[in-house]
Amino acid sequence: MYASAAGAKELLEDCRQRLTDILTCDPEDLVFLSGATEANNAVLAHFAAKRGKVAVSAIEHPSVREPAAGAALIPVLVTGHACLDSLHILLTGSDPPPMVSLMAANNETGVIQPWQEALEMCRRKGIPFHCDAAQWLGKLPAAGLGECDFLTGSAHKFGGPKGVGFLKIRGPFRWLKGGPQEERRRAGTENLPGIAAMVAALEAREAALAAQLPGPEFRNAFETLVQRSIPGTHIVAVTSPRLWNTSLLVLPSHANVKWLARLSRMGFEVSTGSACSSGGGASEVLAAMGLPEDALRRVIRVSALPEHSEEDWLALAAAMAEVHASLRDTDKAG
Ligand code: PLP
Repeated sequence: MYASAAGAKELLEDCRQRLTDILTCDPEDLVFLSGATEANNAVLAHFAAKRGKVAVSAIEHPSVREPAAGAALIPVLVTGHACLDSLHILLTGSDPPPMVSLMAANNETGVIQPWQEALEMCRRKGIPFHCDAAQWLGKLPAAGLGECDFLTGSAHKFGGPKGVGFLKIRGPFRWLKGGPQEERRRAGTENLPGIAAMVAALEAREAALAAQLPGPEFRNAFETLVQRSIPGTHIVAVTSPRLWNTSLLVLPSHANVKWLARLSRMGFEVSTGSACSSGGGASEVLAAMGLPEDALRRVIRVSALPEHSEEDWLALAAAMAEVHASLRDTDKAG
């Protein structure tokens, strides 16, 4: 009942309104929470526990796949796309899933997924559709994503702080109990500074995207250079539409950790997988795409910020050529 609390409440609801303006959905359908992992768990665990065998793509983040225990998997094609023919078969079968989950863009390959088509297919059947848009938001315009029945977003993927995100939901369900916050759907004091920073970050990215949509030219020039200087390098899903900032490479020789250590000493921060799955062994996404076991240990993933210039991309390509030469020299010496 005191002024500072009222001010905080006002700011919270202002943030909710501004976020829904970007997503074009109703403020009542938006819940603030700790990030994409919590959002995905809330939706998938709810459906898997209450309504049974949900359908998720084989390339979903573990925070979708694990709570969807026993889910029907929508396979992935060699192009890195979830297979819509398989989704069609699931939706028109005798026991259709109670909900479907397909991400907007993949966190490892960057491949843009056919979420609009999947949403339409589900809508025709009256089946709720969830989209994990953690990788899409802030890199491509958010327009249309608010149409999904359930939508996941995470602030640190678009320049906001870690530990805050949102979930657009439809229907009455609760996953954290013990408080009145967020209409009792997600109890616990809201992270207001994080929420305010998240909304400001997404607004800034949306404005920048509206002014100029980044293209894949710098990334493509980098890939061409790497393929030229390191023969035998395979670019995963090279012909598929991908996020402009992501490149996933299978190098011809040496374990990826050797490349990473050398590149790190030269000031380049690349990873063996997406930030949230690196360090956890071989990539399940690439295994689902049919990459052989030995290739999985030679994978490195590069992802850029909007601030990165063409020079940055080309400097990384030059550094990789240097690492390639130094690894060869070490082999010869050995
Ligand atoms: N979903 C996708 C597609 C991701 O790339 C990640 C990785 O960060 C997550 C979910 C998990 O997000 P958070 O770190 O916000 O829990």
